Formats: sequence, C-alpha cells, structure tokens
Amino acid sequence: MNPFEYASADSLDDAVALLREKKGRVRVIAGGTDLIPQMKSGVAEPERLVDLKGIPGLDRVEISAGGLRLGTLVPLTEIASHPGIRESHAALAQGASAAASPQIRNAGTLGGNLCQRPRCWYFRNEDFHCRKKGGSECFALEGENKYHAIFGGDDCCIVHPSDTAPALVACEAEATLRSPRGERRVPLADFFVLPSVDVRWENILAKDEILVSVFAPSPPPGTRASYTKIRERASFDFALASVAAVLTFEGATCTRARIVLGGVAPIPWPCPAAESVLVGHALDDALIAHASNAALEGAAPLSKNRYKVSLTRGIIRRALANLNASKEGT
Ligand SMILES: Cc1cc2nc3c(=O)[nH]c(=O)nc-3n(C[C@H](O)[C@H](O)[C@H](O)COP(=O)(O)OP(=O)(O)OC[C@H]3O[C@@H](n4cnc5c(N)ncnc54)[C@H](O)[C@@H]3O)c2cc1C
Repeated sequence: MNPFEYASADSLDDAVALLREKKGRVRVIAGGTDLIPQMKSGVAEPERLVDLKGIPGLDRVEISAGGLRLGTLVPLTEIASHPGIRESHAALAQGASAAASPQIRNAGTLGGNLCQRPRCWYFRNEDFHCRKKGGSECFALEGENKYHAIFGGDDCCIVHPSDTAPALVACEAEATLRSPRGERRVPLADFFVLPSVDVRWENILAKDEILVSVFAPSPPPGTRASYTKIRERASFDFALASVAAVLTFEGATCTRARIVLGGVAPIPWPCPAAESVLVGHALDDALIAHASNAALEGAAPLSKNRYKVSLTRGIIRRALANLNASKEGT
C-alpha cells in the first residue's frame, strides 16, 4: 500500500475542497470495507483519503409522506432492519439485508455500497493491466468469466456488485451529488454508466464529487416489492444474479412494473420489455413466463456463464409469482 495522508472533513464544503486540491488523487472513505482492500491490492493508490464520517447529518434516515431520504453514511444494517424502510421500500431493505456479512453491513454504508468497485478478479489482481485499469484488453471476455456479465459487457464484462443499487433503481430513486460547482440531482438509473461510456469508472461522479444522499419516492398504494438474490455461498456472497421487482396493482391488474437485475451487467440492468408485458394485465403463470423470457432477450452470455440466462429467468419468474400471490393474500 502506498503512503497517503488522512483528512477528516467536518462539512460537505470542506470535503469537496479537500477533493479538489488533489483532484483525481484523492478518494473519499466511509466505512472503508471496500476502499481499504482496494488500496491493499493496488487497485486504488490515493495520495489522500477524505473521511466523511465527521460530517453531521449524512447518517440520517428521513421518512416523509413524499418518500425516503437516506444520507450516504447510513449503514446497511440500519437499512435492512429499519421498520419504516421495510414497510415502504421492502426491496431496498431486502437488498441491504442480502449484502455481505453482518460485520460488513455494520461498517459498510449506503454510499460505499453504491460506489464500490467491481469484483472482477482480473481487475482486482495487480498482475493484470486490464481495460478498466487503462490497459487494452478485458481478460475476462476470453478468460475466467463464470461470474461476469451477460448484458452490456462488450468492452469490459464486469458486473455491478451492489445489492442496494438494483433495488433503488427499481424504486425510481434519485441521487444528490455535491462538488465544488454545487449540487446536482440525477435519477439513480443515470448515475451508473456502462463501460462503453466510461470503461475506467462505474458511475458519473467527477473526481471532486461526492454522493450525498439518495431519495426514493413513496410508492403508490397497491405496490408490492421484493429483492431476490441467488449466490453460491449462503452465508455471504455477491449475487450470481438478482432481481428487484416493484409492482403496483389496482385490483387484479398490474398498473406499473419496475424490474431491475443485479449481478448480470456492469450497471443495474432495467428490463423495460418485461415491464411492458405485465402492465395492463392480471398476472398468471403464462404472463409471468412471457415477462421473464422478455427480460432475457438480448442476453449475450460468455463461454462460462451461460447458466446465468436460465438462472435469471427463473428468479424473475419466482419473484413475480411471489408478488402476485402476496397481492392475492391481502
Ligand atoms: C467479503 C465481502 C463481501 C461482500 N459482499 C457483498 C454483497 O454480497 N453485496 C453487496 O452489495 N456488497 C457486498 N460487499 C461490498 C460491501 O457492501 C461494501 O464494501 C460496502 O457497502 C462499502 O461501504 P463502505 O462504507 O465501507 O465504503 P468504502 O469502502 O469506504 O468506500 C467504497 C468506495 O466507494 C467510494 N465512496 C464511499 N462513499 C462515497 C461517497 N459518499 N461519495 C463518493 N464515493 C464514495 C469510496 O471512495 C470507495 O471507492 C462485500 C464486501 C466484502 C468485503
């Protein structure tokens, strides 16, 4: 690990000023559960760390009639266990609870979970100068790609590792970002970028910009939501595939659907074709099968991850059937 200086910010202004001074050579640290391993493996070599934990209010959970606002420092454990979040945004609470291990969820924050770097073993290994690190090759495309993307990975086939990101995108959340140029708000769906847009980084944050908070609007009445994740190791593991599903029903009819996949693409992967199959109809087995097939149209599996196509189709089908059954039970 390279030598670095440590600075504790006591305000957002202070934090972005500390970032700007050594733009591109500074990283913010929250819980440190991903950043410190990045530094130990040489993936990140910052000259300065800016610690956000001294900034008041960034760990706040605010629930109002309009929705849920989460500061970037809210720990994953709190999101997973908060009764109000479990009630209003069940997919998010389930996603947070499915992430990592209890110890990591205690230290790990929402912002860190959304901004964590990918787990691709070529990227995390300093012996491979892959495209994401400025090299000319994605070694996983022709190499060990069992855990890699089946969508959107033509240039670099990482998958986005976050379990909260698909849930929040399905909840149509918005992110608030802060830089020396002021504050901007973006739909979380536009926060994440494909390697074809920026192969070196996974989101739109500028080098002197911080994720401050995330706002998820209250869902309409009649909404049911879930996060379903399949992993190899039950105790803690990243998703082989996951699905966040948020459906709104009026009577038996599905009036609104958001389906977003995790573990299969470099970004949380929306499924508009599947959503449009569902909207305007009562769900039954045939429609659910049709929607899950539609979600996988265009999948481009690699040599060792063809299993992800049927696995993902299966969990979408299971998630939709469970939500439909829970609607009938109310
Ligand atoms: C063994 C293990 C298993 C895991 N399994 C899972 C899993 O199954 N699912 C899952 O979702 N995650 C998993 N994770 C990842 C874990 O959830 C993240 O490490 C954690 O959420 C990161 O939060 P943090 O506060 O510790 O972030 P940090 O480590 O402090 O930061 C992570 C990254 O985000 C950046 N960052 C942090 N906050 C901000 C901000 N406000 N603005 C801009 N950039 C920011 C940092 O610069 C850094 O690059 C696992 C991690 C480990 C070590």
